[in-house]
Amino acid sequence: MTGYNRVALIGLGLIASSMAHAMRAHGLAGEIVGHAKSPETRATAVEIGLCDRVCETAAEAVRGADLVVLCVPVGAMGAIAAEIAPHLAVGATITDVGSVKQAVVEAVAPHLPPHVNFIPGHPLAGTEHSGPRSGFASLFVNRWWLLTPLEGNDPAAVQRLRDFLTGLGANVDEMDVQRHDLVLAVVSHTPHLIAYTMVGVADHLRRVTQDEVIKYSASGFRDFTRIAASDPTMWRDVFLTNKEATLDILGRFTEELFMLQRAIRMEDGAFLHDYFTRTRAIRRGIIEAGQDTAAPDFGRGVPPSDKA
Ligand code: NAP
Repeated sequence: MTGYNRVALIGLGLIASSMAHAMRAHGLAGEIVGHAKSPETRATAVEIGLCDRVCETAAEAVRGADLVVLCVPVGAMGAIAAEIAPHLAVGATITDVGSVKQAVVEAVAPHLPPHVNFIPGHPLAGTEHSGPRSGFASLFVNRWWLLTPLEGNDPAAVQRLRDFLTGLGANVDEMDVQRHDLVLAVVSHTPHLIAYTMVGVADHLRRVTQDEVIKYSASGFRDFTRIAASDPTMWRDVFLTNKEATLDILGRFTEELFMLQRAIRMEDGAFLHDYFTRTRAIRRGIIEAGQDTAAPDFGRGVPPSDKA
């Protein structure tokens, strides 16, 4: 069977609401039960009919669920795991959607009983929007969903989860936890930090240029601002929990930046041209891999789904 009888979503933001819409669209859950921390979010979820049932506590939401998905910021996962552990059904699969894996495994696994399968995961899909109204059913279509299975996971449970995620439209792959965190530091976490920095620089400059930065903002900067509008809690937790890998990549980035800075100062056009030729080839590779289109208005017009 593809799907689960009862799916509990803990956290009802962008990722959980997109999962709920996609599960409904593809008939992948007999019942969808949800829980979020604040009464406001729970009330919104009820108002828009996001789940079949919304519970006041996470413990209540996971009772009898054969799939539990932790969709909260990375820093909140450990406390949730401790709360739900005594209430998990025998044989249930527990997964999460956190953007960092090592920290989630360390925070969650020690709390869980041996009679469940904890299979960590991460959809490489998102937008800068958050909350229960921000989800849409096609968010995961043709996007990667990485699983980082743990020693002792039941292969049948892993396969069932893979089938479910494929049913949501995702391409599923497996990776070990450390590799995941390093790869994501390169393709997502450090680029986000750079976007935050660039928008911060422009904000300082705005005071000098009296709003021209905003008024004339075009292509590159506008895309940075979209990325830098992402949820502050989520990204604070990503950097605090993927500290080593992010600092490693940031160190390499700084070295490259100094090389480019020197080439500009020395008017070394050949160096710059070679460098930009290599980076252009990477962009072509991403388009060929189907992870973006060559359309010139990338990031605008359609809901972007390039975050992680
Ligand atoms: P979001 O839209 O900001 O929603 C977060 C949800 O978690 C909210 O419903 C919030 O409830 C709930 N929450 C927070 N702390 C909680 C707690 N202690 N107990 C119960 N609920 C709690 O976040 P999101 O974008 O869906 O991200 C969720 C997870 O997905 C994060 O771990 C993130 O790293 C990962 N992720 C995000 C993206 C992305 O681009 N957004 C992509 C891939 C993975 P309240 O509204 O009541 O506060």
